[in-house]
Amino acid sequence: MTATHCPYCSLQCGIELETRAGAVTALTGLESFPTNRGGLCRKGSTALELLAHPERLTSPLLRVGDELVPVDWDTALDRVAAEIRRVQERYGPDAVGCFGGGGLTNEKAYQFGKFARVALRSASIDYNGRFCMSSAAAAATRSFGIDRGLPFPLPDIAEADVLLLVGSNPADTMPPAMRWFEAGRERGAEHIVVDPRYTATAAAAHRHLQPVPGTDLALANGLLHIAIADGLVDEEYVRTRTTGFDEVRRAVRADWPDRVERTTGVPVAALRATVHALASAGQAMILTARGAEQHADGTDTVTAWINLALALGLQGRPGSGWATVTGQGNGQGGREHGQKADQLPGYRKLADPAARAHVAGVWGVDPDSLPQPGVSAYELLDSLGTDVKMLLLGASNPVVSAPNAAHVRRRMESLDFLVVTDFFLSESARMADVVFPTTQFAEEEGTLTNLEGRVLRRRKAVEPPAGVRSELEIWHALAARLGRGEFFPTEPREVYDELRRASAGGPADYAGISWERLDAGEELFWPCPSDDHPGTPRLFAELFAHPDGKARFMAVTPRGVTERTDVTYPFLLTTGRSRAHYQSGTQTRRSPTLAAAEPEALAEVHPDLARLLGLTDGDLVRLTTRRASAEVRIRCTRTIRRDTVFVPFHWPGVNDLTSARLDPTSRMPEFKACAVAVSRVPAPLSTPQEVPA
Ligand code: SF4
Repeated sequence: MTATHCPYCSLQCGIELETRAGAVTALTGLESFPTNRGGLCRKGSTALELLAHPERLTSPLLRVGDELVPVDWDTALDRVAAEIRRVQERYGPDAVGCFGGGGLTNEKAYQFGKFARVALRSASIDYNGRFCMSSAAAAATRSFGIDRGLPFPLPDIAEADVLLLVGSNPADTMPPAMRWFEAGRERGAEHIVVDPRYTATAAAAHRHLQPVPGTDLALANGLLHIAIADGLVDEEYVRTRTTGFDEVRRAVRADWPDRVERTTGVPVAALRATVHALASAGQAMILTARGAEQHADGTDTVTAWINLALALGLQGRPGSGWATVTGQGNGQGGREHGQKADQLPGYRKLADPAARAHVAGVWGVDPDSLPQPGVSAYELLDSLGTDVKMLLLGASNPVVSAPNAAHVRRRMESLDFLVVTDFFLSESARMADVVFPTTQFAEEEGTLTNLEGRVLRRRKAVEPPAGVRSELEIWHALAARLGRGEFFPTEPREVYDELRRASAGGPADYAGISWERLDAGEELFWPCPSDDHPGTPRLFAELFAHPDGKARFMAVTPRGVTERTDVTYPFLLTTGRSRAHYQSGTQTRRSPTLAAAEPEALAEVHPDLARLLGLTDGDLVRLTTRRASAEVRIRCTRTIRRDTVFVPFHWPGVNDLTSARLDPTSRMPEFKACAVAVSRVPAPLSTPQEVPA
């Protein structure tokens, strides 16, 4: 039996793999792992369907005309190295870009960032986590001085007397985590859900607030206004543990409850009841997730919820405070060690001379040789074919998952050369000039960091299929062909030990978290600066991470960034995850069990809206936004607002519809709200079509 973790989401449920004759024969939940205690959702429990999948890539592929044909490794690697040299000699180092993923292990995320800066000397690197966690990360960093999704262990959720979930649906996205929510309710806790949809999570809660998509910031400011007006602010906490409250107090002065009701659609009585419940609880939590964060004002929206948590004196109190529920498997670790355009390992800043000197010292290179920060994920994708001529794409499928995806597809088509590493021929891989086949979760060693900041060991149960290599081997082989192979070890433990040294002294300090300690069963949360440090399960009990030890209130006001509806596009479109699928669906759409459970994207439409449009359940409709149109079937449900359509984003075409308007701080796109028209189509499903300019 091999104890390891699920390959999908950030809960990183513990699993055990049984092997026989070199193959994994069974997957079960690991009872001893503290977040899932043996529980698994249907994604995790069917993960074995992908290991020996008939579509698994087992040879490098090289484009010859319209075909991708199998070639040997040396041929593929030589060709990619030659293209890197050609492109960089002609256009400069930044013309070769890298785009990573939040599913990569810590070792791979670290090595990919180093590969871009040391092997390619390119500033052009970012990753798909920018589309997931960046607004919460930016808000936490500016408010607390550090970004860790949950600043407390997951079981603390059961300790909260009042829990407010904003744009979060763990009942569908991470069902094993619900045990902690259920434990809280069994103790008598009150749970309140804020979501435009009446989700499974909302159905289990005591109260559901159903705001207009894109109005969460106004809602949070409105609650803070009531807290101030009704004398609910913890003045002692605000005075001793925070700065900047006076400006925030002034900023929300005009957010009267009736005004907030008009903006958000949430009745005044519900606003008052919610904030009074939070303020009167012994322990209270506010959890946000992508519903609140994937907006062009996502950073400010999260900040508004943090402001409320600070004003009520929650942050750092046991069983209390704001937190965000991370999405991708290594959503936390993947954003700490250098895949981001502006970042060095340990959550250091690439523009900081001291950080550059420290990391360059660990890497054995001149600090001045490191490039300066590059541009964010969408901007990088938008520059393909113009500034960036060649792209190395790993563990990501942006032609399905990026916003305004039809445009991204055109940009990718305009590249000189595209290299994709994946274990399936994703929609993006089909466009590649070279595809490298990579290992899956059960075939590799490494670490990941889950939503709690807990560092976990991924353990190898079986050898990968012949012809498959890990990314660490691929990047070493490419670096060697570029004359820099000595900087890129291929053993995960060696890479991780280097990561520990590179992160030492940084905000996300892994220096004391060794594989030996993890394999001995220690539960270790970063920061953990030394071998004898116990790690930090709970942050902010006494100090925040800003130099003065205080949290910062930030005044934020709605900017009205959500696309306006009008007579042509009269409704709001929002997107999200479904229970059976994960991210771009590259993996889950290939799982026979999951594909059968949810074979296609179904748009949720309120029956009243369906009646107005002359539609019935199962009808094929065309959704048209200012960017593109896509055809999907509808599912009539009273769980959605009458003015809103929801579509899960795991299928090609859905993100052709979404907006690439970016948050000015986090560069998060406005995935969660755009204007849409809905019309019936009698024809069968067809490929999405762009709207003429
Ligand atoms: Fe895997 Fe997440 Fe499901 Fe757990 S909740 S089994 S980590 S997908």
